[in-house]
Amino acid sequence: MQCEICEFKCNISESGTGKCGMYEGSNGTIQEKYPDMYLVSVPAPIEAMPMVHYYPNSKFLQVCTIGCNFRCTGCVSWLLTESKESIEGAVKSLKPEEIIIKAKDLECIGIMFCFNEPAVSFHTFKKLAKLARENNLLIGCATNAYFSEKSFIELLEHIDFINIGIKGHSDDAYKIHGAMTYEPIFRNLELSAKSNVHTEVAAVYIKGMEDELIKTAKHIASISKSIPLQVMRFLPFCDTDYNDEPSIKDAESLCRELRTILESVYLFNSPGTEYLNSNCPECGTPLIKRGFNGPMCSNVIDYKQEAKCECGYSLSYTGNICKENGLEPLGYFGGYKNIMSLENIRTILAFLGEHDSKIISGVLHEIIKTDYIKDLYSKTKKPESYLDTIDHYAKLAGRENEANELRNFIETNINSISDTVKDKDRPRVYFALNHPLIAVFGDKFECNLVEIAGGYCVNKDINREEIPGIMIPVDLLNQLNPEIILVYGSHGYPASDVYQFYIENGVEAEAVKNNKIFNIHPYHTAGSPDWILGLMYIANIIHPEIFNFDLTMIADQFYNRIFGIDYSVLNHSRNFDVIRLEKIIARQNNQDTFDGNSNK
Ligand code: SF4
Repeated sequence: MQCEICEFKCNISESGTGKCGMYEGSNGTIQEKYPDMYLVSVPAPIEAMPMVHYYPNSKFLQVCTIGCNFRCTGCVSWLLTESKESIEGAVKSLKPEEIIIKAKDLECIGIMFCFNEPAVSFHTFKKLAKLARENNLLIGCATNAYFSEKSFIELLEHIDFINIGIKGHSDDAYKIHGAMTYEPIFRNLELSAKSNVHTEVAAVYIKGMEDELIKTAKHIASISKSIPLQVMRFLPFCDTDYNDEPSIKDAESLCRELRTILESVYLFNSPGTEYLNSNCPECGTPLIKRGFNGPMCSNVIDYKQEAKCECGYSLSYTGNICKENGLEPLGYFGGYKNIMSLENIRTILAFLGEHDSKIISGVLHEIIKTDYIKDLYSKTKKPESYLDTIDHYAKLAGRENEANELRNFIETNINSISDTVKDKDRPRVYFALNHPLIAVFGDKFECNLVEIAGGYCVNKDINREEIPGIMIPVDLLNQLNPEIILVYGSHGYPASDVYQFYIENGVEAEAVKNNKIFNIHPYHTAGSPDWILGLMYIANIIHPEIFNFDLTMIADQFYNRIFGIDYSVLNHSRNFDVIRLEKIIARQNNQDTFDGNSNK
């Protein structure tokens, strides 16, 4: 039996599955493996999908299933795509009628399918799309567009808007992601642009692959110059090389070039960038101002009425701009908040030695069922409550001994550091998040680590709304006058670029005068339990006269004790990358796949 949904055109045997693993042969037909099963259904602004020229700032119900037909390195949704056996237990049966009711109850104007690939839940999505239209709701999706021509035409008949994710403009660029050729994507883009479906394109920008972006932009321009292009500055999630991340400066310079090819080019994943705004091409006035709101996600901060400029120019977009959508800001992880929370739990389970997908799936199922995930953010603001969450997962997985061992290691080191700095002077420390003027919120985990390490975190003296991605004024930073500046993220804004930024923008704090600016790389300061290494790294920076932790040795010991590998082997990406880790362990054990840890 041949599946003709996407260009892989898999042959599926009775009881067998295709490449995506989401369809199986049953009684001589091909059936969806998880029909009407969804992982997430939450309201969000359309900029979380993201779409930029479609009903700006309006509320949509964001839904996803699990699985993908691609294997993209650095996928932000790796839990849904690369690790779907672990997440099976977390998907919920939801009839299309129930989703429609939820969308209407929450006053959404439509439904957006994103985070994973609609091709792998094609029939489920079509059913939902049909019912959405019947109920006067807008419906659209984000897709890699590797659909066969026939099914893509069928998809277009069911939807109102689409975001096509492009990986490059060559077969080589697509082979990295497990596909064979790039041509079907551009064929489908052309079909979409010529239909009535509002079309936008998101293209990933990996360092060194500028040509792929330029060719992509030229190809889009040959179809229509007015198709908005969202440049996704590559973030090294999951199994990827940290060095593939371009700096924000380089990404902005590429966008300048792309803006000579297309009318609307936007830069994502780049806190503080002005290249996320829609500006008047005549006089440069911002018509819609947007901010960074998590990976692949933006939010509308301000706009001119109907995006019209005083000089007479009007931005072209579909629908209306929503004045007030009633939504809370999404926070640092944007639309991916729930998925990131599940990914963090999956990661913590790996630290507890749990790699068995059935057990992991059971834990995630329980977490979703009991709504434990709901206020996870506040539960993990302080080390003590973070350790309590570990105990909770350990109990569900039967890994209490491992949790106790981890707790002992972490608590012993915290107590030792905080006792040592008890009566010492506390240097003033400012913690920036990926951009020199974006301050970590004062109550966040990172700020607590600064205080444990014997610093005074000036971020807690900043009064502002809990909206991520907003920059603080230079004057305020000068008043706070930090002696040390820590920057999370290294390749977006390397310490040298941060220093240059401060000099050019009149920041005169002690830290700048004495060039005491440090990137927290390769250590983590939240999320995965190896933040304990991040704490030691911060202690070395704040009190070099007291602490001299040999991080290389300690990190290797820590990782060897838990995983049997050196820390350096991981070539760390932004988040703890459990998939990379499991692949390395499997390779070390000469296994094809990682199939469980035997040290239980
Ligand atoms: S959707 Fe694509 S990858 Fe999945 S079974 Fe069908 S042809 Fe294969």
